Amino acid sequence: MRRLFAASTMALLLAAGSAQAQVDTASVDAAVQRVMPEVVAWRRDFHQHPELGFAETRSAGVIADHLRSLGLEVRTGVGKTGVIGVLRGARPGRTVALRADMDALPVQEATGLDFASSATGTYMGNIVPVAHACGHDMHMAMLMGAAEVLAGMKDRIAGTVVFVFQPAEEGAPPGEPKGGAALMIAEGALNDPKPEAIFGLHVVPGRPGSVFYRPEGFMAASDRVDIRLKGKQTHGAWPWRGVDVIAVAGQVVETVNTLTARTVDPTTTPTVFTIATINAGVRYNIIPDSATLSGTLRTFDTAQRDALVARAETAIDHVAEAYGATAEFGVKQNAALVFNDPGLSAWLAPVLTDAAGEGNVNAATPPTTVAEDFSYFQQVIPGVFYHLGASPDGVDPATSAPNHSPEFSPNENVLPLGVKTHVLTVLRFLERS
Ligand SMILES: [Zn+2]
Ligand SMILES: [Zn+2]
Repeated sequence: MRRLFAASTMALLLAAGSAQAQVDTASVDAAVQRVMPEVVAWRRDFHQHPELGFAETRSAGVIADHLRSLGLEVRTGVGKTGVIGVLRGARPGRTVALRADMDALPVQEATGLDFASSATGTYMGNIVPVAHACGHDMHMAMLMGAAEVLAGMKDRIAGTVVFVFQPAEEGAPPGEPKGGAALMIAEGALNDPKPEAIFGLHVVPGRPGSVFYRPEGFMAASDRVDIRLKGKQTHGAWPWRGVDVIAVAGQVVETVNTLTARTVDPTTTPTVFTIATINAGVRYNIIPDSATLSGTLRTFDTAQRDALVARAETAIDHVAEAYGATAEFGVKQNAALVFNDPGLSAWLAPVLTDAAGEGNVNAATPPTTVAEDFSYFQQVIPGVFYHLGASPDGVDPATSAPNHSPEFSPNENVLPLGVKTHVLTVLRFLERS
C-alpha cells in the first residue's frame, strides 16, 4: 500500500514536472513584452556608445552587470572583451547556446537618429568616427532581453543556456591574428558547459518581421587576397627600358575576373572574386617599380575555393612572367562558410514560425555572398544562423540602406521578434526528447 502510494506520488510529480516544462508561446509573448522598454533603452544606449572590435569594454561591462543581476554565472574577458553568461535551469537537461556580436564599425553615422553616435575610436593608428552600422547594438539588446526572459522562467527550464556575447565580428582588427569568434573558441567559450548547438541572428534589410535562412551554405566563406607585383621602374616615355607593372596589374585584374567567370560552375557554387584596391605610382610620367592589389574572395565550397585559389596563383605568376615581372600572392581567411546544420535548420522552421507568424519565415532563401564569423562556432558544434528583416517601415527593402552604410538604421519594431525567436528556440530545443 505504502509502495503504491509512493509510485502514484512519483507519477503525479512527473506529470507536474512535464506540464511545467512546456512554456507556452503566449506566456513567452507576455514576458517578452515586459522586457521591451529595457531592450529598447539598451539598444539606444549601445547605439550611442559604439566600440570597435576588441575595444568593447563599456558594452561588455553593461552586459556582464545585467547578466549578474539575473543570477547567471558570468565569465568576462573571454577573447579580450567577450562575455559568457550561463543560466542553469531548475532541472538538469541539454545545453544550448545563443550568440550576439558586439562590435561597431569605423563609419561616420548619417542616420539622423536622436541617439546617433558621435563616438570615435582608433583604427589603423588613426582616430576615426565609430557607429553601429551593422546593427550589433540590436543584437546585444535582444540577447540581454532573452536572458532576462529565460532567467524569469528558470524554474520551468530543464537544462542550461549559454549566452555568448562576442567581440570583433567584423574581422580581426589589423595586427590581430584572430577575430572574435575564433578567439573566444580558442579561449574556451564552448567548454564547460559545452553546448550541443548554437543559434544566432542578424538584422538585415528585409520586410520587418520576416525571418530567412537556408540549410547548409547560407553565408559565404570570405578570404582576403593580396597580390604584390614587382616590375622595373622607368620613365613613362621609355616603357621598354623597364617592366611596366601598371600594365601587368591591368592583366591581373582581367585574369582574376575571367578565371572566376569561366572556370567555376555558377549554378552549384556561387563565387565572387573582387579586386577592390590597386596602389601604384606617384607621378603621371614615371612607371613605378611595384604595385599592390587587394580583394576579397567569396565562396560556398571549400574544394572549389582551394582549386580557384591555386589556378589564380598560377595564372597570375604566368601573367607576371610574360612581362618580366614577379608576383606574390597571399590569401587569408576572414570567415568560414556559415553552414547551417540541415537537421537543425528543418527543426527550427516551425519554432521561428511560432515566433514570427505564418508566412513570415522563409527557410529556403538564396545564399548570400556576405560573411559572418558565426561560422567558426558552427565548425565546433552544429548551429543555425538566420536573418531578421529590419528595413524601416514603409521603405522598400530593396532600396533601404544596407549593413555598413552610414545610413543603416534597422527597425526597432523587430526587437520583440528577435527576443522571442531567441527564447522560443532555447525553450523548444531544451524540451526536445
Ligand atoms: Zn557587419
Ligand atoms: Zn554584422
